[in-house]
Amino acid sequence: MATPASVAEVTRPDKLLWADLAITKRDYVDYLAAVAGAMVPWLRGRPLTVVRAPDGVGGKRYFQKAVSSYAPPWVRTVTIPAPSAGRDVPYVVCDDVRTLTWLGNQASLELHPAPVRRDRLDRPDLLVVDIDPPEGAFDAGVAVAISVLEVLDDLRMPAGVKTTGGKGLHVVVPIERRLEPETLRAAASSLASIVAERVPDLVTVEFRKADRDGRVLLDPSRNGTGATIVAPYSPRARSEGTVSFPVPAASLAEIDPGDYTLRTVPGLLDGDGPRRWATLEGERVRIPARLLDG
Ligand code: ATP
Ligand code: MN
Repeated sequence: MATPASVAEVTRPDKLLWADLAITKRDYVDYLAAVAGAMVPWLRGRPLTVVRAPDGVGGKRYFQKAVSSYAPPWVRTVTIPAPSAGRDVPYVVCDDVRTLTWLGNQASLELHPAPVRRDRLDRPDLLVVDIDPPEGAFDAGVAVAISVLEVLDDLRMPAGVKTTGGKGLHVVVPIERRLEPETLRAAASSLASIVAERVPDLVTVEFRKADRDGRVLLDPSRNGTGATIVAPYSPRARSEGTVSFPVPAASLAEIDPGDYTLRTVPGLLDGDGPRRWATLEGERVRIPARLLDG
């Protein structure tokens, strides 16, 4: 539990961020302090992109990469060259509850870490499978996630699954930092092909929407340079206040992603999903040769 001194100051605490849920900035910062123990391990050392919504979810929202110029000096950053933008970008690195709550006070409603850590920015440490089911077909996403987890299990690759807080799911595999992003993307592409061969009615690797036939596209580009993934326990900047939440593989078929919200998640932290994700980060594996042979 956070001590008061470790939590950033809250300005304009009564400002409504999720009006439909009557969640104020004070409430949101309290939420972040409550989930920090589970969430910060997935932020630590990672360049962070945030979605800010200064007037709450009903107002305008924008992705922010570069740290705000008025950030206090104790907010850590890592600078990444961005040749295309013509300048370097200093990203926030959130290593503690104080920085997390400072971000909350800035109305950073979504937290999107990079799959790399600051001491080795050119070697990703997470393989991500982004599952985007068609609108209103969460069940299709669940079926795909189960197939992805089966294939990963065959490959002896420990994985976690979480809702995105949006319409789909993310499967995440912590990996040793050996491969360049290009090579990891090729491995993610091989994984997608294996899943598509196993469940051809559910999954496609076809980019053109017209050729997908209602199937779910597994897009390996989520593993490229500059990719991000919404953090577990991050809310989404949408009116329902849904949160990206770890779920155990065994209960995937029974879940309703709408059940995981800013209101409910603090009470669900000792469940099987969060428990699985608490140890997952330490279970790094090498990408097996089968995914690298092409
Ligand atoms: P959903 O389940 O609704 O698809 P999602 O988080 O997977 O939610 P996607 O649109 O599939 O959303 O995006 C996958 C990831 O790519 C996001 O989690 C986010 O980190 C990143 N992303 C998406 N849009 C942007 C953007 N405009 N700028 C930076 N990163 C983005
Ligand atoms: Mn997605």
